[in-house]
Amino acid sequence: MISNTAARAIAQTSLKASRSFHSSSTSLARKFFVGGNWKCNGSVSQTNELISMLNQSTLTTETEVVVCPSQVYVQGVKDGLRSDVAVGAQDCWVQGNGAFTGETSADMLKDMGVSWVIVGHSERRGKGESDAEVAAKAKYALDKGLSVIACCGEPLEAREAGTTNDFVFPQIKAYADVFTKDDWERVVIAYEPIWAIGTGLTATPEQAQDTHAGIRQYLGQVSGAEVAENTRILYGGSASGKTAPGLSAKPDIDGFLVGGASLKPEFADIVNCQTTDNSLKPVNVGINGFGRIGR
Ligand code: PEP
Repeated sequence: MISNTAARAIAQTSLKASRSFHSSSTSLARKFFVGGNWKCNGSVSQTNELISMLNQSTLTTETEVVVCPSQVYVQGVKDGLRSDVAVGAQDCWVQGNGAFTGETSADMLKDMGVSWVIVGHSERRGKGESDAEVAAKAKYALDKGLSVIACCGEPLEAREAGTTNDFVFPQIKAYADVFTKDDWERVVIAYEPIWAIGTGLTATPEQAQDTHAGIRQYLGQVSGAEVAENTRILYGGSASGKTAPGLSAKPDIDGFLVGGASLKPEFADIVNCQTTDNSLKPVNVGINGFGRIGR
């Protein structure tokens, strides 16, 4: 049995090794993070196949891994999945329990042992959620003890007009207006350009790095230097086993939120894309994922 101090020292050494891949500006606190957003996909049998794919995969301990199945499959995934992969939800209601037909409260998710929840995904914002509503929902979830994957991202018109930051910064400001410094310790930001989601059009490492660095700088202005330095900023938008290594080599890209590729064995390659452990080889497990369902 090792002491807590020894365990922490070992964890810190391995974290340092994993982050030494990046430039010196990268904070040691920002452990690489990969989330899988399974969206509205699957059946009981396909979900069981995904669980078994993940359970058989070699996943580096240098990456924090979370998968977010449809709410109806959350309990089954929690029951069958290896314990080193956390389970999240894809959305939640803005308040607690009550007469809100069709909603799922953060209280319920917490009760089921869910640890993360995605908020502000563009596929939900597209249904009319304002920045303030998304932020209020995130704050409620944090107050109930969940951790939050807080999404932001611009449409193609803003990218083409050169106004990406004008679109994204107000989304970040809405979060910053309601999160305390302590809240930020349980938040990761997912920058997901809408034009890249499900299109096969991944942002280039330079485009993504540029926006991530801008978000981090802005976060420093609205929430302080420590929050900016320690908050992980994920990239999302057609990330794949092929594009992940180049993107993850950028100093402000701290992981990925993955849609389509999270339904395939290639998800493990994304999890392992920046590991320093040479013993991790690409996985080869006996299912094909869900093909292009939902993309
Ligand atoms: C997403 O929807 O969060 C996402 C990143 O999807 P995809 O990887 O399929 O573009």
